[in-house]
Amino acid sequence: MDLVVIGAGPVGENIADRAVRGGLETVVVERELVGGECSYWACMPSKALLRSPQALSAAKAVPGAAEAVTGGLDVAAVLRRRDSFASDWSDSGQVQWLESAGIGLVRGHGRLSGEREVTVTAEDGATTVLRARHAVAVATGSVANLPGIPGLREAKPWTSREATSAKTVPESLAVIGGGVVATEMATVYAAFGARVTILSRSRLLGGVEPFAADRVAESLRAQGVEIRTGVETLRVERTGDGVRVETDQGAVTAAELLVAAGRSPATGDLGLETIGLDRRAKLETDDTLRVEGFDWLYAVGDVNGRALLTHQGKYQARAAGDVIAARAAGRPVDDAPWGAHVATADHAAVPQVVFTEPEVAAVGPTADELREQGRNIRVVDYDLGSVAGASLYRDGYEGAARMIVDEDRGVMVGATFVGPEVAELVQAATTTVVGEVPVDRLWHAVPAYPSISEIWLRLLEEYGRPATA
Ligand SMILES: Cc1cc2nc3c(=O)[nH]c(=O)nc-3n(C[C@H](O)[C@H](O)[C@H](O)COP(=O)(O)OP(=O)(O)OC[C@H]3O[C@@H](n4cnc5c(N)ncnc54)[C@H](O)[C@@H]3O)c2cc1C
Repeated sequence: MDLVVIGAGPVGENIADRAVRGGLETVVVERELVGGECSYWACMPSKALLRSPQALSAAKAVPGAAEAVTGGLDVAAVLRRRDSFASDWSDSGQVQWLESAGIGLVRGHGRLSGEREVTVTAEDGATTVLRARHAVAVATGSVANLPGIPGLREAKPWTSREATSAKTVPESLAVIGGGVVATEMATVYAAFGARVTILSRSRLLGGVEPFAADRVAESLRAQGVEIRTGVETLRVERTGDGVRVETDQGAVTAAELLVAAGRSPATGDLGLETIGLDRRAKLETDDTLRVEGFDWLYAVGDVNGRALLTHQGKYQARAAGDVIAARAAGRPVDDAPWGAHVATADHAAVPQVVFTEPEVAAVGPTADELREQGRNIRVVDYDLGSVAGASLYRDGYEGAARMIVDEDRGVMVGATFVGPEVAELVQAATTTVVGEVPVDRLWHAVPAYPSISEIWLRLLEEYGRPATA
């Protein structure tokens, strides 16, 4: 075969698809479920769990609809819907898709065993050696971190896998961590009636603009979540009826404990030592996703640490699959910035939505990050609740928006929205950043009235029209 892809998550599937379309005979190796973390224990089940409470609170905030809400959340029905979005943890549909796309599948744990060589160990111990004519792409994703807190491992806490696939709701849940998984799962379990306590070393949602993170924290508190920040967890113990978490700010007991303390690249047992790399080496790549120092090895998606998001990994996968096929055929490589074979957006325009209540939707670096880079920026803020379309959406709509303009280039380089159902606003912002649309031209992109998108006009008015600026 021409290409071996290790890992059949969303990223591995997309690399293989593009490579096959480019004329390469391609095989993916998968040790668990075809579809990866995203389909069964991450994006899909987590968003399915979040959607029902969100729809209910939206209905409750609109008089006329609110009166029709006569009961609470039907948790069993939410869990059933989640099960269907996780395909009942069966990958038969995705396996069929692989077949229809002409992609080969070898089940088992793949390890590099030399140059362009992968040895696959099946569940029964049988091994298969795959030799690639052109390239090997590592798309093994990432694994949840379990910090070295005394007693933590023995206490067998939940990670995001158990939190997204749970069949019952614990009466109370302690969460170690304060990032996206912690805040999304706190939102879910609080809505399901669990008493939730977040124990975070730093402020919540460290990667997003503080004004947006503060609104999420405020809202979580209003939903009954206890949030302790600046907390160091000292030890964990599984007791008869739950878990006891000892911190430097006192102890917390809960029926269950979720550890959401970040993720690490899944490179632990990949045979990196057989190709002269350290077992724990970080797979640094160039913008064509090729591992530094190799002309045949690619690392794509979560495993390269560039942006731990499905959409960004799939974007990288399209570039990687195409460039592997181009190089194999001796066709020209389009690797200039924003070319077909590079993942330039990873550096400038990574969109992300945090599906908490309120949602956070953002693209590009934060104002603090840009200032640290020494960029000459102007920050424009606006109250989303004062936008007519938003106020119609629900009574007492609260939200905020920020646009960041690079003053030297006259283009928007970042935006953040926080509020109910702002997720869909981020694509316009991403297009604006990637297209480097001059701010002056944006005046001609007129938002429909009355929609939440009218925030764009308000931000421009705050920024000032060219003639009056
Ligand atoms: C709770 C949670 C919610 C998330 N929500 C979102 C979201 O809403 N939107 C979003 O964009 N991102 C979200 N993410 C991130 C998203 O899940 C990842 O970015 C995405 O799954 C990465 O895709 P991947 O293909 O690189 O890795 P994965 O999906 O992890 O797939 C890797 C595959 O490789 C296999 N594998 C690993 N090692 C080997 C080996 N040695 N041999 C054979 N097979 C192997 C694994 O079994 C797995 O199937 C979320 C993450 C979590 C944890």
